[in-house]
Amino acid sequence: KPRLYSGMQPSADSLQIGNYIGALLQWRDLQSSYDAYFSVVDLHALTVAQDPAELREKTRRTAAQYIAAGIEPSLSTLYVQSHVRAHAELAWILSTITGFGEAGRMTQFKDKSARYGADATSVGLFTYPVLMAADILLYQTDVVPVGDDQKQHVELTRDLAERFNSRFGETFVVPRPVIQKDTARIYDLQNPTSKMSKSAESDAGVLWMLDDPAKSAKKIMRAVTDNEGSVRFDRESKPGVSNLLTIYAALSGRQVPSIEDEYAGRGYGDFKKGLAEVVVNEFEPVRARALELLDDPAELDRILAQNAARADAVADATLGAVYDRVGLLRRV
Ligand code: ATP
Ligand code: MG
Repeated sequence: KPRLYSGMQPSADSLQIGNYIGALLQWRDLQSSYDAYFSVVDLHALTVAQDPAELREKTRRTAAQYIAAGIEPSLSTLYVQSHVRAHAELAWILSTITGFGEAGRMTQFKDKSARYGADATSVGLFTYPVLMAADILLYQTDVVPVGDDQKQHVELTRDLAERFNSRFGETFVVPRPVIQKDTARIYDLQNPTSKMSKSAESDAGVLWMLDDPAKSAKKIMRAVTDNEGSVRFDRESKPGVSNLLTIYAALSGRQVPSIEDEYAGRGYGDFKKGLAEVVVNEFEPVRARALELLDDPAELDRILAQNAARADAVADATLGAVYDRVGLLRRV
């Protein structure tokens, strides 16, 4: 089976439904056709300040939500990035073949460092894409499903793999990004032109997977729409309603036109009530399962340890080859 790698940062107590629709649903569907590695990328989360106890908790919670959303830890390798030491080690080697200017062209770094300011911008934030390249290349990954926000980082990964291969001999599979469909992009309910995000400044427009269903329903009822009053998809002039239609379609498995037909001649109130029902029905069992897993952290930790051992075996083989190729002396 071809290899697949993807991951998410444990940057909040709960994932948001954009993570679910844009990533987890696709991961779940892909996991049987690929040898899939899904990581909770806690080392990446450290690129911005974290409270240590909270980070540990968020890491468990993120893993629990992967499983609750249908990632099978017996089928896929679902592990915590820091449990596999090779990630940090390969990142170091790759950083030595990455150009300073090349890394400086990453737009996510430019955006984030502008947002945090120079004093709060760490070197780790700058080298983040190199660590991401290590994540992917360690597993000899064929495909990387990512949102288009991550496309540039996968391009860098490909460049580094090709550069290493040509300088030191064939070592890495050159991975290919699989960019999520635009229809899988979810926007903030209060600000429907910017994407829904775990680390949004206000959470009024964010639907959390683990939130109380009544709270999510309320947020949907308050979602920003427009004055036209007709349920119709038009991303340009009706971003709010279009976003709600995207969520409705993704979670119900229906096509947008069929939903438009159902609500033709009815107000936004009815439509939002219908959507709230769809969202609550989808997330009630996911939330229950995640909370059940979190009730037994020792069992969850055991699952993560087993999966990390599987990941370790593959990662160590790659790292060993890399160390040999670049000329590091083997410890006997
Ligand atoms: P953060 O604010 O910490 O960056 P995030 O919500 O953007 O959090 P990430 O951990 O950066 O989440 O991304 C995890 C996965 O979810 C990625 O595959 C990303 O493309 C996808 N994703 C994130 N937000 C959305 C969204 N609004 N719609 C669709 N997919 C999304
Ligand atoms: Mg993000």
